[in-house]
Amino acid sequence: MKKQDDWHWQLENSIRTAEQLEEYIELSGTEREQILAASRRFTWAITPYYAALMDPDDPLCPLRRQAVPDAEELYDPLGVPDPLDEGKHQPVELIIRVYPDRVAFCVGNRCPVYCRHCLRKETMVGQEDVELPEAKIQKGIDYIREHEEIRDVLLTGGDPLLMEDDRLEGLLQRLHRIPHVEVIRIGSRTPCTLPQRITPELCTMLAKYHPLYLNTQFNHPAEITAEAETACARLAGAGIPLGNQSVLLKGINDDAQVMRELCRELMRLRVRPYYLYQCQVLSGTRHFRTTIERGREIMAKLQGYISGLAVPKYLIDTPYGKVPLSPNYVEGRRGDDVVVRSWDGKEWKEPNPPEEGEIPHVTDAPHRSCLQNCESGCACGD
Ligand SMILES: *Cc1c(COP(=O)(O)O)cnc(C)c1O
Ligand code: SF4
Repeated sequence: MKKQDDWHWQLENSIRTAEQLEEYIELSGTEREQILAASRRFTWAITPYYAALMDPDDPLCPLRRQAVPDAEELYDPLGVPDPLDEGKHQPVELIIRVYPDRVAFCVGNRCPVYCRHCLRKETMVGQEDVELPEAKIQKGIDYIREHEEIRDVLLTGGDPLLMEDDRLEGLLQRLHRIPHVEVIRIGSRTPCTLPQRITPELCTMLAKYHPLYLNTQFNHPAEITAEAETACARLAGAGIPLGNQSVLLKGINDDAQVMRELCRELMRLRVRPYYLYQCQVLSGTRHFRTTIERGREIMAKLQGYISGLAVPKYLIDTPYGKVPLSPNYVEGRRGDDVVVRSWDGKEWKEPNPPEEGEIPHVTDAPHRSCLQNCESGCACGD
């Protein structure tokens, strides 16, 4: 095995200074200063693997913009540190609860690459570069055990897959033993930013805790590499259904062609596009935010143009839960018909069944076959 194929090597050689980054990409003097300025406010780290995918000469490279600190992050008058008010939705530390039947369980606060658009970058992720103590995690497990209505546990963070296999297995074992926990989900960006983490040993271990789902985050087709493909093939091979949660990012993937290519490539890797998130009004992300109208326009150029399976759901997260923002295909009612518009713009009038209570009395009803009323001389023979 080459040293670069070892995930521990990738983490030990994580890039955390402009000088280290310059081994991979060209930086101007201004860029070096910007990195320094922005990194005083927000944590950063990049795996050598992810840095090597960046275009060395293009400051607008979509991978570079997701991972390299930028002075743009320092000017954002609207952005707030915790747009989902997650701090107020924690019945115990590490558990975020917005829905009755499922919780997000933040079992780590580190990531291999700190995304510049990370939702939790000021509340949890990268705040302390240490493993969470076992006692805190145990409190979260106890909370889940004491609440029988929780049937779906989403392990998130930070990245849960930065835990060593044995520690992660201990956690999965304890959750799996809780009778009311029907499904465990892992949210991890490692297939994209540290695919070396997805070892055959990890997959063999994970397969013991089915039904186990994994959602990852690819935001651009340039992130789909041979390494990512191997990682996803191993996970899918272990029977783990894979989903993708992208974030809509200006200048990175706010383009229908880019999105179509990303979604098609993900399908090839057996990763089903699940969500496309509107970028939250979150500190230091002003330069990434698009309008919701733009997002809906892009969605309208996916639906019908690529397999339905490849079309994610566009939504915005709010303190009250996730809200779909799908484009509108229903134009409204015209008489008894509902007028809808197809993916390529054709109008269709769908005869609408009458509301209950409006259903005409049997003797008044026209025959179905010809829709004529027999008493008015219908010749259908019914
Ligand atoms: C996103 C999220 C979930 C999972 O939501 P799904 O729509 O079921 O994928 C659960 N809890 C919290 C707090 C979340 O933010
Ligand atoms: S991988 Fe997820 S949790 Fe980690 S920095 Fe990126 S968005 Fe945040």
